[in-house]
Amino acid sequence: MKLKIGLVFLAGFAACAALLVLLAATWSPTKGVPESEQDVYYPGTEELAPDEMRVVALGTGMPTARPKQAAACWLVELGNGDKFFFDLGAGCHERIAAQKIPYDFLDKVFIGHLHVDHYGDLASFWLGGTTMNRLTPLRVWGPSGHAPEYGTKYALDRLQEAYIWDIGTRAGFIDFRGGQLEVTEFPYDGVNQVIFEENGVVVRSIPAVHGIDGAVSFILEWNGLKFVYGSDTIPNKWFVEYAKGADVAVHEVFLPPPLLMSKQGFAPGEALMVGTQAHTSPQQFGKVMSMVKPRIAVGYHFFNDFDTEPVVREGVRETYDGPIALAMDYMVFNVTKDDIRVRMSAIDEEVWPSPAQKKKNAPDSSKMIPFSDFVRSGVMPMTEIVQPMFDEINEKYGTDIKPLFK
Ligand SMILES: [Zn+2]
Ligand SMILES: [Zn+2]
Repeated sequence: MKLKIGLVFLAGFAACAALLVLLAATWSPTKGVPESEQDVYYPGTEELAPDEMRVVALGTGMPTARPKQAAACWLVELGNGDKFFFDLGAGCHERIAAQKIPYDFLDKVFIGHLHVDHYGDLASFWLGGTTMNRLTPLRVWGPSGHAPEYGTKYALDRLQEAYIWDIGTRAGFIDFRGGQLEVTEFPYDGVNQVIFEENGVVVRSIPAVHGIDGAVSFILEWNGLKFVYGSDTIPNKWFVEYAKGADVAVHEVFLPPPLLMSKQGFAPGEALMVGTQAHTSPQQFGKVMSMVKPRIAVGYHFFNDFDTEPVVREGVRETYDGPIALAMDYMVFNVTKDDIRVRMSAIDEEVWPSPAQKKKNAPDSSKMIPFSDFVRSGVMPMTEIVQPMFDEINEKYGTDIKPLFK
């Protein structure tokens, strides 16, 4: 009997050892962990299936800045190759760069309203993007306002004027096709109006209620999948009606008023007004999602920490019991008709620009604005250092480029 138990034990031990060897072989570092087993998303390493949508949270925070969370920015990538931004809030540009997507593919931006935490990094993305090898004009859609000077066109015309010095330094030095800004303003009060229709993708806008007239929410539909993005809004009838059936419904959720006071220093009046009349409290968010019934409800727009997340979640759970994610920067949603997979990303901090997707043209020297004689008089040309650099490159690439200063 003892022997039998011993043999069974030995056999069991051998089986375990064999299993361990097998597992070791499967998970060997020389083979790598299979993609299906990855719990983390590594940007730039995963192909999208033709029928798949990937949503990446690139800004989930506030106008109040912090390293952990940039302000509002959401990237939607589709299996057909199209990519869309919804808002480009302050601080999001570095998170965009971390996606390692060539900038020529990042040419469509939809702005929900003109708060700095929703388009504060547009200039950085637009002009900085020309140094990230974007050679395609940047297209921006945004709402009108109650008067022309409150609309997107007015704001972005002035943004281009504000950056005239920046543009003046670049246009003659680099291929500046990516510096073109194409702005489409649409009426803020259109209800389920089509504002974009290309390549099987439709984007619609609905009015939002936030601050003053001129805020909207967006609905993107493609291949039977529906992504809804609230930008900022308090609960409203348009969102409840037109977000219905969403696969992913993103809607702001603010900290409850007591936390706005204790954590953020709001006065009682500020906390109540901002937290429920300009923004959406957790309980209001839950009520909206109970009516919309998305496959997954996504809340964002609060400082998401170990001590605030449980409070927000508890508040939402008073009024909503469906699937939910309270988003952090770099949260990723892979969406198909059968599955929604939610992961966090691992980010490479040392990102470089992706290669240009088009052949670069020579800079347009007619756009170069000359220095004054005064500034030229201060130049130390260092010809003995600079000329050999030019000679070496010219010889290697068959070019004939001359220094500006001799
Ligand atoms: Zn706002
Ligand atoms: Zn906001």
